[in-house]
Amino acid sequence: PADSAIDVGGVVVGWGLEPVVIAGPCAVESREQVLAAAQAVKAAGAAILRGGAFKPRTGPHAFQGLGYEGLEYLAEAGQAVGLPIVTEVMRIDQLEPVAAVADCLQIGARNMQNFDLLKEVGRVGKPVLLKRGISATLEEFLAAAEYVLLEGNDRVILCERGIRTFERALRNTLDLGVVPFLRQVTHLPVIVDPSHALGRRDLVTPMAKAAVVVGATGVMVAVPPDPARALCDGPPSLDPSRFTR
Ligand code: PEP
Ligand code: MN
Repeated sequence: PADSAIDVGGVVVGWGLEPVVIAGPCAVESREQVLAAAQAVKAAGAAILRGGAFKPRTGPHAFQGLGYEGLEYLAEAGQAVGLPIVTEVMRIDQLEPVAAVADCLQIGARNMQNFDLLKEVGRVGKPVLLKRGISATLEEFLAAAEYVLLEGNDRVILCERGIRTFERALRNTLDLGVVPFLRQVTHLPVIVDPSHALGRRDLVTPMAKAAVVVGATGVMVAVPPDPARALCDGPPSLDPSRFTR
């Protein structure tokens, strides 16, 4: 019956609390790149640093992430600036090593219904950032969260990141109505990722604001040091100079 307040490395995410800003590059590309991003987002007021080491890419020729090397750079950058870190896990065998350094484990949209992964992540004592599947209904989204909770891990943050609809002008359709709806049906906090939802940087700031207006407990924004040179998701990424609180 009570709302969950989820502590991510000292930063608390929950309904009614100050919205938490999670920011950082889509993918960790080098030690220098993620450190520069970490410094920039910290200076702008972000509370949690994000960065993908293991990247689920649509095409097999696209940059797949630096893997464990990237994880190390992300952890270093987080420590250097004093921000907790969140990063995606794609496979069960990555859970233990990633949980050893990350403050929060991200389950990507493409893995929202990877039930074996969800069960295992439920057995790890770390907060989970669960992203809504590309075409998942809210019932399926909540059922995925339930897989994690059932294994004993009740620290799940839900993330709306856009769904696929008939509309093709934007990358996805940002379903903001879910925020006040989920507020009524679950105790789990809900954050919004406008970068992956819209696919265009000019729409990120207005939709991040809209997310906060409808009650989101946080936003996650892609902010690399140099979006023009990003190996992954440059178009929706905000330049650090445009990312201010
Ligand atoms: C991400 O946040 O890095 C990501 C891959 O997002 P999604 O799983 O929502 O596509
Ligand atoms: Mn991305």
